[in-house]
This record gives sequence, C-alpha cells and structure tokens, in this order.
Amino acid sequence: MIREKWDDLRETLLRTVGENNFRTWIEPLRVVEVQDGIALFDVPTNFMGNYVARNFSDAILHVLNTNGESVQRLSFQVPAEFGERRVPNPAPTVRREVPNAAPAGGSGDAIQTAPLEPRFTFDSFVVGKPNELAHAAARRVAEGGAVTFNPLVLYGGVGLGKTHLMHAIAWELKARRPEMNVLYLSAEQFMYRFVQALRERKMMDFKHLFRSVDVLMVDDVQFIAGKESTQEEFFHTFNALVDQNKQIIISADRAPGEIKELEDRVKSRLQCGLVVDLHPTDYELRLGILQSKVLQYQDSYPGLELAPGVLEFLAQRISTNVRVLEGALTRLFAFASLVGREIDMDLTQDCLADVLRAAERKITVEEIQRRVSEYYNIRLSDMVGPKRLRSFARPRQVAMYLAKHLTSRSLPEIGRRFGGRDHTTVMHGVRRIEELKQTDGQIAEDVEMLRRTLEA
Ligand code: ADP
Ligand code: MG
Repeated sequence: MIREKWDDLRETLLRTVGENNFRTWIEPLRVVEVQDGIALFDVPTNFMGNYVARNFSDAILHVLNTNGESVQRLSFQVPAEFGERRVPNPAPTVRREVPNAAPAGGSGDAIQTAPLEPRFTFDSFVVGKPNELAHAAARRVAEGGAVTFNPLVLYGGVGLGKTHLMHAIAWELKARRPEMNVLYLSAEQFMYRFVQALRERKMMDFKHLFRSVDVLMVDDVQFIAGKESTQEEFFHTFNALVDQNKQIIISADRAPGEIKELEDRVKSRLQCGLVVDLHPTDYELRLGILQSKVLQYQDSYPGLELAPGVLEFLAQRISTNVRVLEGALTRLFAFASLVGREIDMDLTQDCLADVLRAAERKITVEEIQRRVSEYYNIRLSDMVGPKRLRSFARPRQVAMYLAKHLTSRSLPEIGRRFGGRDHTTVMHGVRRIEELKQTDGQIAEDVEMLRRTLEA
C-alpha cells in the first residue's frame, strides 16, 4: 500500500520541490517499505541517496507524516539489480501543469494567462538541424506581423522543445507588441476552463474571453483527443479566431493526422496551416545545448572545472530527450560542487551511472536489418542472403554501416549476423558507405533518415 500511496505523495512533492528537482532526485526513488518508523527507499546510486537525504529529507518526511505514515527517519539502499529493473519505469506520469484556478471571464480583467517560464526564451533556445524549421516558423510568428499561416502547428516527441518555443513566442510578442492580447495555455487548461464555465453557467463569458484574444496558443492539443464536447468548443473557438484573422499556435506530440480520436474536422483545420515538426535531437544539437547550459551553470557554480571530453561523452551517450540531458547536467554540477571536485569522466560515470545505463543503446543489428530492408523495399532474406546484386548489396552495406555506428558489436560479430560474412567484407561495406556519403547526396540522406528513425 505504501507504494500506491507514494505515487500520490510524489505529486505533492513535485509541487514542493519544483519540476527540475523532482525529475532529478525524487522521481528515481522507489519506496520499499515503512517499518519501525523508518521509510526505506531504493535509489540508483549512493550519491543520489546522500544527496536526497541531505536536501529533501524534510520535504519527504513531511508528506509522509501528514498522510497517515509515522516516519522518523529515511533510509536509502542501492539494490544490485536496479539498472535492469529501472528501465521500464512503472511510475505514473505526473501532470506538469496544474490547472489554473482563475475563474473564466469574470469582471472584464485582462486574461489570466498560464505562467510563462522565464527560461524559455529564443535566446536560450539552441538551433540545430532537427529544429531549425520549427524555430524559423516560431520566429516569424513572434514578429507579430500580418498572419501568413494559420494555425502554426509544432509537433514532435517529448522534451524536444515545443513548450519552450511557444513560451519564447509569447515573451517576444509581449516585448514587441505589448498591446496584443496573447493567451498561452495547455489543452488541459482549456478543457478545465470550459468545464468550469459549463458548471458555473458562464459559457458566454468563456466564449467572449477566448474570442477576444489576438494570439491563442494551445499546448499539447493531443490531450483533448476523445473528449468530444471540449473538441467541439475548441473547434468553434478556432474558427472564430481564424475568421478574425487572429494567430493560433498549437503543439502536439505527433502529427495532427496521427492523433487518434481527434475529430476529422479538427484535424483538417489544423492541417490547413503550417505544420512543422521538431525532429529527435542529433549529436551536434545535444552538444550545443550542453555547452549553452554549462555557460548558465558556471554563473551559479563559480570555479567549477569541467574536463575536456565530458560534454562530448554526454552528447554521445544520452538520449534525444533534452529534458533528460538537462537533468543529467544539473545533477552533475550539483554533485561536483557538493564534493568540491572537478567534473571529469570518473565523476561523470559515478554520478550518472543510472542515467547512462538507461540510455545505453538498445539498437540491435537485427532491428537495423529490418528497418533498412523496409526502407529499400527488399526482403530481409535478401539483405542477409548471398546475392550480390547492387539492389541488395547497397542496402546491405548501409545496414553494416549503421550496425557499426549504432551498436557496440565488433566487425566479426556483425559479419556473423549478415549470413556469416567475413569481417573484412563488413569493413569494406562500412568504408564504401563512408565514401558514398561524401559524393552521393541520396545515400547521405538515406543514412541520415535511417539513423534518425533508429535512434528515435
Ligand atoms: P516539449 O514541450 O517538447 O516536451 P520542452 O519545451 O518542455 O519540451 O523542453 C524540455 C526541456 O528541454 C526544457 O527545459 C527546454 O528548455 C529544453 N530544450 C529543448 N530544446 C531545446 C533547445 N533547442 N535549446 C535549449 N533548450 C532546449
Ligand atoms: Mg511541452
């Protein structure tokens, strides 16, 4: 029972410690038992246990004791098998935004917008190939000029910067066009206000409120999928604003056409505008983001030294989700300043053992072969079989190249998985693709596409 209760208590802790601390320190904890006044937790590393004990004991003790547990002390242990057990994280997802309780409409006040995160500005947004289009579109909209595409739809996986870009647009508009009425809210908040207006019989106020904005931004619109009356109201709001030539900006975790249980008319409305996606980050973008974060951290932790190669290592090893990347860096700086050591590879490995384990490449040679044969539309058996036709040989070499770069398999091991080929054949294939990438734009593009989908 304490485990179930802990899931609820975590939500309370999220509010007390803030999102960053929560993700870095509290979320990875697993409660084991409460016995004789001691609450025992599993933690991924000793360092984390120590850090949590020092910094968050009071908060944790407080929520436990105010929720029916009698606990005097916390205890942390590192279970041997933590790495393996931790990967499919069974923790419930915690809502990131608490619905804004401000009444809809009301006494004609300016609209109560959801709070904007001060960190999420264009200045702090690092642009790279995977997000350059989304960034350019966001910049354009943020100029606040004539509406050229409506709506702007930003979509992409979690932690790729959708919310950051939307807040950046809002900040920029506030600065450039202070007279404009800009409303940013999550789709969840939209629904919450709608339901509240229904309950309090204030639908007229609600409609008036949403129809009087100049720019409406709705984040995570996939949330209203399957919620019929909210969708209906959203649809009408949307149309009314488009008719008045007001800018609408929407984000979603996937392309509008792929959101199940989103009404067709809403989908087609969304697709009428400019739809741009944020691709999973690549190595260069991750490195750029880390470098810019380090500059910010060095203000808060003056004198901390960072050994060469650490950022490159993190950019190489940590997944595409920028939130995870930031969490890792936050923890690294906190740890280094705590123990007063330089941030070098040893310290990084110690401090981030669990993150690195979870991020370990799970891509297999078999998966690469499957994806590549699908991509080139050949049979898997021809990919690994003996035929030497160019139409099989080239995809085979691409797959070998990707296997070399995306897995930790050796050349002989890769050869064995390609129908028992020799390691020199694999080496030749890898080299051939390296050459072709320089001279043949199509191959370079194919390889990049495949790498992205495999790493996503
Ligand atoms: P999403 O809304 O797509 O799930 P967020 O916008 O919340 O993602 O971004 C997650 C975290 O990663 C935020 O702290 C954000 O500042 C950071 N982030 C994402 N992309 C970038 C980027 N290109 N440059 C700097 N920080 C980024
Ligand atoms: Mg978001």
